[in-house]
Amino acid sequence: MTAIAVLGSTNMDLVAYVPKAPRLGETVTGSAFRTVPGGKGANQAVAAARSGGEVVMIGAVGADEFGVRLRSALTAAGVETAALRTVEGASGTAHITVDDEGGNSIIVIPGANGGVTGLEAGDAARIGAADLLLLQLELPMEAVLAGASAARAQGVRTVLTPAPARMLPHELLGLVDLLVPNEHEAAALTGFTDPLGAAEALLREVPEVVVTLGAAGVLYAARGQEPLTVPAPRVRAVDTTAAGDTFVGALAVALGEGRPMPQALRWASAAAALSVQRPGAQDSMPTRAETDAFAAAGPLPAAG
Ligand code: AMP
Repeated sequence: MTAIAVLGSTNMDLVAYVPKAPRLGETVTGSAFRTVPGGKGANQAVAAARSGGEVVMIGAVGADEFGVRLRSALTAAGVETAALRTVEGASGTAHITVDDEGGNSIIVIPGANGGVTGLEAGDAARIGAADLLLLQLELPMEAVLAGASAARAQGVRTVLTPAPARMLPHELLGLVDLLVPNEHEAAALTGFTDPLGAAEALLREVPEVVVTLGAAGVLYAARGQEPLTVPAPRVRAVDTTAAGDTFVGALAVALGEGRPMPQALRWASAAAALSVQRPGAQDSMPTRAETDAFAAAGPLPAAG
């Protein structure tokens, strides 16, 4: 079984559905409200666990009701949460407004995530026991750097999702084995809007890059190799929330099992394509058996 450590965020997503987002000073009546466990770290942890990985989550929740629910959502998915600390104050929250057009605007309040500034006792050993460490940018940079350093020192492969997009210190990129930006993040990091140009620029800093391209699939580039494009299965997408996190969690499991990169990319693309056909974030993530069945069915005819 692939052992995966995730050092990252847990957030409760507070989602308000409105016909049209309010402007400054305006009040609108919405149609529904939902609270859903999220956070990029927790999403990747759940995706990896459903994909068959043995996953430990390192991070923090607040001493509030959301913290209890965030932890139990992870536990229910089979993620080990002994290294997810409960700290004074509020859990991280994401305040999301979704309009009738599917457009959204989001306020993220880091809460407990903002207090994770390094590793705690036992975390370096947890990372050392893993095959891969998954990192994102929803924790303070000091924590991301500490995690990446601990992984490198112990020969553990690091996978960084550079989201939310921001400039990255060279020191961090030097500790990353595989970088997985989406096309917007790749452009923000490099200034190149074409994914191939961006990937080539990123290869100066990291040995391997996967740029995710939504319905167009993924572009893989590695130093000294021809770039490879893997198209996404053609499906009818209803909700692409956390598609990227599903992809990364599944990819990590496949790579940890020693599958060659092209095969791992196809399997992770199958997992992500399943997730976009269902509403929700963590709720939409497929099990290993579902992904196996979908991947085995081969390319599907175009959705009508
Ligand atoms: P994105 O973050 O939008 O680049 O999406 C991440 C990954 O999810 C993509 O690389 C695809 O594997 C998958 N994905 C996203 N949207 C779709 C879609 N409409 N159809 C199939 N797969 C998708």
